[in-house]
Amino acid sequence: MKQTNVRKLDAVPFTHVELTDAFWAPRVETNRRVTLPINYQQCKTTGRIDAWTWKKGQPREPHIFWDSDVGKWIEAAGYSLSSHPDKALERRVDAVVARMGEAQGKDGYLNSHFLLVEPEKRWANLRDWHELYCAGHMIEGAVAYFQATGKRTFLDVMCRYADYIDRVFGPGKGQMRGYCGHPEIELALVKLCRVTGTRRYLDLASFFVDERGRQPNYYDQEARARGEDPSRVWFKKYSYMQAHRPLREQREVVGHAVRAMYVYSGMADVAAETGDRSLVQTLKRLWENVTTKRMHVTGGLGPTFRNEGFTFDYDLPNENAYDETCANIALVFWAHRMLHMDPDGRYADVMERALYNSVIGGVSLGGDRFFYANPLAAHPGVDPHGGIREAGEHYRRSAWFGCSCCPTNIVRLLPSFGGYVYSQGRGEARVNLYVAGRGELDVDGQRVELQQKTRYPWDGRVTMTVRPATPATFAVALRIPGWCRGARLKVNGRAEPLRVTKGYARVTRRWQAGDRIDLLLPMPVERIEAHPHVRQDAGRVALQRGPVVYCLEEVDNGKDLNDLILPRTAKLTTVRKPGLLGGVVVIKGRALRRDAAQWTDGLYQASSTPLRRVAFQSVPYAVWSNRKPGEMVVWILDGRG
Ligand SMILES: [Zn+2]
Repeated sequence: MKQTNVRKLDAVPFTHVELTDAFWAPRVETNRRVTLPINYQQCKTTGRIDAWTWKKGQPREPHIFWDSDVGKWIEAAGYSLSSHPDKALERRVDAVVARMGEAQGKDGYLNSHFLLVEPEKRWANLRDWHELYCAGHMIEGAVAYFQATGKRTFLDVMCRYADYIDRVFGPGKGQMRGYCGHPEIELALVKLCRVTGTRRYLDLASFFVDERGRQPNYYDQEARARGEDPSRVWFKKYSYMQAHRPLREQREVVGHAVRAMYVYSGMADVAAETGDRSLVQTLKRLWENVTTKRMHVTGGLGPTFRNEGFTFDYDLPNENAYDETCANIALVFWAHRMLHMDPDGRYADVMERALYNSVIGGVSLGGDRFFYANPLAAHPGVDPHGGIREAGEHYRRSAWFGCSCCPTNIVRLLPSFGGYVYSQGRGEARVNLYVAGRGELDVDGQRVELQQKTRYPWDGRVTMTVRPATPATFAVALRIPGWCRGARLKVNGRAEPLRVTKGYARVTRRWQAGDRIDLLLPMPVERIEAHPHVRQDAGRVALQRGPVVYCLEEVDNGKDLNDLILPRTAKLTTVRKPGLLGGVVVIKGRALRRDAAQWTDGLYQASSTPLRRVAFQSVPYAVWSNRKPGEMVVWILDGRG
């Protein structure tokens, strides 16, 4: 697709990026060896793989969102195959695709639930039934698999389905003016347009974006057509699915967090292709709202399980924070899209915050257990999913979920992680993330290789070698993270003044193969405070070093972590622990503890709790719950007074 007036940069695809670092590369490898096969096995065992060709009378019935998991597994397989050819995996995907082809209706329709269980209810409840959402994930799978293997079968199946959807939905006579309660198809259709060059798919994505929330509301009409009272809707309001008013009129991020992030990503894609500035303006406004008032310090989104989403400004609970892994991942999708329309480091800052904390914390180091909710504190008996846990029962990662959106999201994010590192634009090579490895960029038609040597995120020194195919003048734009103060830059050993514009330091010169950039991003331990309106963090601080947010775990510090007070004067030291939790830097120091042993039997007493000095150790939030289960806190009592 040609560049439009709103798309300023292009992402460098993950297939042009090689990771050799100690943080991401091992995780991508574990994802390939462990998480990807687990996702398949779980989809197989639960019936998701075979459901396409089930006949009536099976003991089980496919659930309405099963297809989305298969689509995401194939997408993950596609990304993995792009860098790791694997004939057995390809055969496995081909077998599933064959089943889908067999199941597909003559008209192109394809949904395992509605083909088998309720064929008469096709498109009858767009609000709740996820049909277009499932189609979207299968389209993403088909695009990824085609790009990896060149095989067209799945892509053709999904084009037939998309063509059918395009006939059914639209503003024309006899067409439905509906849109999915769970956004996803919008961004998928733009991907399909990009890979096939078929403009109709982009137009259909625009149609879904334009229709959403218009009056009269489609979901009211649809409910009446089913003979139902439209007011009897799950979670009462259409803001739950961002359909309470037209998208361009929305001012605040509301409702279900994953749906919000997917629809904003889809809007960004539509804007990037059509040049629609009204969408960009809306998205900037929503971005401002979510990142300044409704995002956890971990980059987690959606504070409550009740709507799996947003509540009100500055409501950021800890023990009960929901922060679904999918929402945190989808924030990365959205941030990445914004960054290419508005090349500003604030998008990359949020992308990095989520990636290093709330996203990667969603999977165990072993790659075989997953979080759905990502709370910022854990106490036995407290369930961020809103259930009542037995006292003493700890919140832990699970092997799988009945609704398995999170494992199938993490498994597709990791093999495509390299795609977030670099961007390219006119006269510019851009570095968004610091990750040891290599990227091959295209700057004004010329191949430019950037090689990074760094131990980031554990160390802020980055050495970069620039290798243009032939000497050429262009800018290397280096992100200076929002958390960083006092960054320093050298080119070929000579200090360069650091001129930072919109979060990036640009070095423009005639680059020769072997030119070297040394970037120093000082990374002291910072005590982070939340905005005074965040009542849940009042009187508390979080520890952060570089992009990594830290937490205290019971396994290191004993129980009752809320009794721990961090004096402002506490000296905080960092220790590299190569053998701990996959190799991390821990933060150590001395704190005070309210001493419950000195307490009388009563529940309350006049303030006189003795404090005792204790040593503590803090570990990255991303790797919590990988050892003995127990309590965890991110926000520690601030011993300022
Ligand atoms: Zn999820």
